[in-house]
Amino acid sequence: MSLPRIALIHFHLESNRAAPVSDRKEFEAQRLLIGEELAKAARQTPPRVSSCTKGFLSEMGDFDMVPIFSAAAGAGGMMDGALFDELLAEIDTRLPKDLDAIYVDAHGACIATNDEDPEGTLLQRIRAKCGCDIPLVMTLDLHGHVSPTMIELADFISAYRTNPHIDQFERGAEAAIALKRLLAGETTGRALVRLPFIPPSTSQNTDTGPYARLMGEAIALSKGDVWNVSLCSGFTAGDSQKAGFNVTVTACDSDTAKATATEMAARVWQAREEFSINLTSIEDSIDLMKTSQTPLIFGDVADNPGGGGRGNVLALFEAMLEAGVQKALVGMLFDPTLAAQAQELGEGAEFDASFNREESSPLSGKLTRKAKILKVRSAPVECRRGLYAGGLQNLGPCALLDCNGIYVIVSTIRRQLCDPAFIERFDLDIADFKSVIVKSRGHFRAGFDEFFAPEQVIEVDGPGLTTPVLARMQLNKTPRPIYPADKDMQWSPEQSCWTVP
Ligand SMILES: [Zn+2]
Repeated sequence: MSLPRIALIHFHLESNRAAPVSDRKEFEAQRLLIGEELAKAARQTPPRVSSCTKGFLSEMGDFDMVPIFSAAAGAGGMMDGALFDELLAEIDTRLPKDLDAIYVDAHGACIATNDEDPEGTLLQRIRAKCGCDIPLVMTLDLHGHVSPTMIELADFISAYRTNPHIDQFERGAEAAIALKRLLAGETTGRALVRLPFIPPSTSQNTDTGPYARLMGEAIALSKGDVWNVSLCSGFTAGDSQKAGFNVTVTACDSDTAKATATEMAARVWQAREEFSINLTSIEDSIDLMKTSQTPLIFGDVADNPGGGGRGNVLALFEAMLEAGVQKALVGMLFDPTLAAQAQELGEGAEFDASFNREESSPLSGKLTRKAKILKVRSAPVECRRGLYAGGLQNLGPCALLDCNGIYVIVSTIRRQLCDPAFIERFDLDIADFKSVIVKSRGHFRAGFDEFFAPEQVIEVDGPGLTTPVLARMQLNKTPRPIYPADKDMQWSPEQSCWTVP
């Protein structure tokens, strides 16, 4: 018996509309593999592919791989439209007609400069080439936005169930299991309910609170005729026309899918007021750094590169310098110019470090302080815990500086600090610090849980492109009314429900 021919597409970008456009350079810095380059990465041991794709490959076993592309740039601004068009053209040229199935490993919250629903357009392009008779399965990030086009053209959708995200491998494997059922002749119905509800980014932890409870209920409903219930909170800073908490159900038929999706959506709507934020001002954070008896980790949640933040907002660091905070580490400030200068001067050198010399975002700020270069590093980081565990992360040339007694890591590639390995590569022991400051919204929790219990985590209310404070965001495309911006609005699941077929 011949092996099934399955095409692989990996398409990941979380677009923050306020951030600079994510161009080819941004993708090349992280991942832009076309055709055979993707197959080569997948054949390495361990495979150098996303965790979802790893899970898919592992569960799928032997198949005839048709690699189309792998394009990922974490989180940034909108995708450059020309690059998006190039990727669509790759679909046209590389997808063979005699295909048995397709796996699309996507984020779900991409916006291109020329397209408000790139994931939907991607599926349209695939179907235009391959028709609608072969199965297509898709995995998404928990922060993805699902469109009616996506449930129309994908036979199965599964989104991450964890935040911080640690179940990508399982979701990829789940997509492979679904694909095997579809290849055996089973069919599905899908339903999507989009709620007019954007929960604050810092209220979306799935370990505790309302999201944890709702996710448990969604998992309990995912059995028998219901293949999968996915709860995507969406990505508010995307300011997307697709914004809003969405419930996507794949089931044996569309009636079952619709009944499950509307029931689950009603439960989410009921719980909307429980998604509250609990931020600590910069001033109070500084007090804690100086007085706390136990070590603390501070998430600079408003400047999270993992949500398209610049990763170089200096407000908190500057306040720490002013207050003379000691035994503290700030990681990581995105500053390619400063990192290059430190690499050139070398370890041991002392110099006037000018932060953000070439940054144009007004929220980032600028400052110059005397600094000593303690260590420089350039090799990619072998990640060990949390979101990036088991993978390699390229941060480009980096430096560890001592600035008035505060240790600060400077990087060339903009990345959230959510893995202890990013710090340990400088031969530092995290336990030596009283205060660790990370540019991350929530993924650092899974990386640093062996050092900091949940009660040792402080979420700082600073400036930045990823602030969870809705009132400070520019929301122009997000549909209105929407909760909590429009507090008194009425809504029922039937108002925004799509079903297929
Ligand atoms: Zn996410």
